[in-house]
Amino acid sequence: MEGVGVERSYNGAKYECLLFDMDDTLYPMSTGLNMACRKNIEEFMLHRLGIEETEVPRMCLELYREYGTTMAGLKDLGYEFDDDEFHAYVHGKLPYEALKPDPLLRNLLLSMPQRKIIFTNADKAHAAQVLSRLGLEDCFEGVICFETLNPQQQPPVASSVEHPNEEANETENNNEIQKMKHQILCKPSLAAMQAAIRIANVDPNKTIFFDDSTRNIASAKLAELHTVIVGSSNLVPGADHALNSIHNIKEALPQIWEGDEEHLDQVIQPNVETVEVLA
Ligand SMILES: [Mg+2]
Repeated sequence: MEGVGVERSYNGAKYECLLFDMDDTLYPMSTGLNMACRKNIEEFMLHRLGIEETEVPRMCLELYREYGTTMAGLKDLGYEFDDDEFHAYVHGKLPYEALKPDPLLRNLLLSMPQRKIIFTNADKAHAAQVLSRLGLEDCFEGVICFETLNPQQQPPVASSVEHPNEEANETENNNEIQKMKHQILCKPSLAAMQAAIRIANVDPNKTIFFDDSTRNIASAKLAELHTVIVGSSNLVPGADHALNSIHNIKEALPQIWEGDEEHLDQVIQPNVETVEVLA
């Protein structure tokens, strides 16, 4: 019965959604983007934030490890800078030309019957650039990115009611604004994982999460996702599978293509033209 215009339903199938990290997961570390990005972050810390040159490399790495992104760590330490300015600085001059179209991965993605969503800590401009360079911009239902998890914070609306202790109230509001400015929601925090699951509206028990970061994998497992460490032949704590390259996905996880053969009547692959940022 399966033919043109009829796609397989995943009703009752083991997996309904595939959640992909992007950087160093959909393309290999050897492209050099990761190193270039770190160099740009270090330059930002040195020139824009005035951090001591000898401290920058160690601090950059330590904050990345502790907070998931160096940016989140810098904010938590109290450094003040504009999120968009930071992203433009570190991504604006990346060697994107190193990323080439990947028709093999494209065909693999398009043949998977599940929903497919990007979950990255990067900003939407970087995500769009990377997906476009890889020729994968129409392979995903949407992108959960920095802006999705960290929408622009608006200061609390001033109350029209007169407060007897207005000054104290204002201080409290200012403290709240400062606190909001410093908190960045990103992987590997469990809260970020749970937010992505909620935004994507998926059942974690029926979702596979792909990422090259061991910390993200451990956190995803706590969020009850099925997990695949990418870029490693060895399992890490919390990983259900290990994939040296995303290109090996069919050999390692044939179950992705094993749907419920009894349901053939429902079209399940949304045919979207553009990748949308989920919010
Ligand atoms: Mg990554």
